Amino acid sequence: PTLVSDLQATLRDVPDFPKPGIVFKDITPMLADPRLFGRVVTAMSAPFRGKHITKVVGVESRGFILGAPIALALEAGFVPARKPGKLPHRSIVERYSLEYGADGVEMHEDAILKDERVLVVDDVLATGGTAEATARLISRLGGDIVGFSFLITLDFLAGAKRLGPDKVTSVLSF
Ligand code: 5GP
Repeated sequence: PTLVSDLQATLRDVPDFPKPGIVFKDITPMLADPRLFGRVVTAMSAPFRGKHITKVVGVESRGFILGAPIALALEAGFVPARKPGKLPHRSIVERYSLEYGADGVEMHEDAILKDERVLVVDDVLATGGTAEATARLISRLGGDIVGFSFLITLDFLAGAKRLGPDKVTSVLSF
C-alpha cells in the first residue's frame, strides 16, 4: 500500500460541511494514526529538504497541526498565520474571499525577517485565497516564499495557478 492509497482509505468526506454543497475533507482520522501522520509529515517535508527553509508558516488551524512537525523536520522555526484578532503582539492583516465566505489572515510583524526562506503549510488548497493572502503577508515582511506544501489540492479549483504552480506541492490531489 502506498501513502496515497492509505490516505484515500483514511480521509473522510463530509458532505454539506460547513455549508450545503461543500464536501469537506476531514483529516482527523489521519491525525489519529501515528504511523500515517508521521508518513504525511515526512512526505510534506521531503520536497523542501536541503532548501534552507528558515521559517514554516502554518495557516490556522489545520496548518498548525501539520506545520509544526514539518518545521521541526526541516529544522526551521514555526510561525502561525491566524484568523484576525487572535495574535497578542503587533500584527499585519490581509483579507481574502474563501470557498465558503470571506475571511482574513494575520501574522506578527516580527514573525518573518527580511530575506528569510519561507515554506507555507496547510491541509487543503481549494481556491488558493487563504494561501495567497498568507503569501502577501510574508512578502510584506520581506520573506522569500520558497514554496507551498499541502496535504491535498482540489485541482478543479485551480488554486495552484494563483500561487505559481511550480511552487506548489501536495501529497494527494482531487
Ligand atoms: P482556499 O482559500 O484555498 O479556498 O481554502 C483553503 C482553506 O480552507 C484551508 O485553510 C483549508 O484548511 C480550508 N478548506 C477548504 N476546503 C476544505 C476541505 O474540504 N477540507 C479541509 N480540511 N479544509 C478545507
